[in-house]
Amino acid sequence: MKITGFRSETYSMKMNREVADANLPSGVEIMPASILFLETDENITGISLGYGGGVEHLFHLIEGEDPRDVVGLWIKINDYLHKAGNEGAATLVFSAIDMALWDLKAKIAGEPLWRTLGAREGRVRAYASGLDYSLSDEDLFRFYRHMAERGVTAGKLKVGLDIEADMRRIGIMQDALSVAAAKPGLMIDSNEYWSPKQAVRYISMIEERYDLIWAEEPARRWDYDGLRLVSSQVRTAVATAENLKSLSDVYPLIANEAADVLNLSSNHSGVTGCRQIANMAYAHNIPVSMMNCQANFMAQVAAALPGHTMMEVVDPGREHCLKYDNHLEDGYIHLSEAPGFGIEVDETILKDLQQNPPKGKGAFPFPRREGAGRYLVPPAPGETPWSS
Ligand SMILES: [Mg+2]
Repeated sequence: MKITGFRSETYSMKMNREVADANLPSGVEIMPASILFLETDENITGISLGYGGGVEHLFHLIEGEDPRDVVGLWIKINDYLHKAGNEGAATLVFSAIDMALWDLKAKIAGEPLWRTLGAREGRVRAYASGLDYSLSDEDLFRFYRHMAERGVTAGKLKVGLDIEADMRRIGIMQDALSVAAAKPGLMIDSNEYWSPKQAVRYISMIEERYDLIWAEEPARRWDYDGLRLVSSQVRTAVATAENLKSLSDVYPLIANEAADVLNLSSNHSGVTGCRQIANMAYAHNIPVSMMNCQANFMAQVAAALPGHTMMEVVDPGREHCLKYDNHLEDGYIHLSEAPGFGIEVDETILKDLQQNPPKGKGAFPFPRREGAGRYLVPPAPGETPWSS
């Protein structure tokens, strides 16, 4: 079997609610998206979601190759990027190609990717993540209650700009989840808004009232001294790495004992890159957690990662042109026997999204908010539904 061609499609979509964090508290409702189709001479097509474009720059490396050789092709592409670096837009393309190759490999085998990767079962424990900075207190409660009704027992709240509001809203999340568990799991995410010392101060205040599982990105993504400082000064685990791109980015965090949980995503140099990081984390007894994604497609990978704790589920309605066969029930993402990632694309809806792009609030890439790492700039009146 040979790889013969590719097609990439980009589009914008409108979610069914805004998503927001401390850097962009007013939120966005429009998200960019893309789909890569990798074609073969046997009419099996590999699909991956969410890259940024530019496949033509790397396609010559896989053209004519057997898609089943995906790890070997990963090494070939990684070597090609040696001097320029596996970073930024290059990583997004690299990731998209690697994921589409894994989709192909599983489809060729006629099985779901979780089986190809060697998982024992097609299910992954989930936690709820509202990306909820722009939700009113009522909508916040509604989101986490809806998740709890599907058996989800843990939640992660966006925090960072207003400690009193953070305290109140963690309590709302806890109440909402309490129908699923007597003691729901609580996590917070400040998205690099705090300095390490601010993080120690605010997390310590929160810990006086709540028992946290982890605090996410309490310092800059690359600041292993700062992350280690936070980890050593608070009781909760420090989670980080979602914005890193590869094992070489994550390595200094592990080597410097700066992370207690590693957040992995489809942008960590693909499925192959995620597995490399998870294996290294496993060797250091550090749990990993898969980030949210459209149609929860990376649950296929999470199911087979050593040391995977739970996967982020956001559920803001990003599936428009995607048909998929997994569902959230009893607190788990349940995967089916559909081959590959289990994703199909409705070309009619895709074309319609491209021809009639939705309008609304959008701000990509997410910028960093004023005051970050120095002083708090609380949401202005009207910036969020709850600020006054
Ligand atoms: Mg995060």
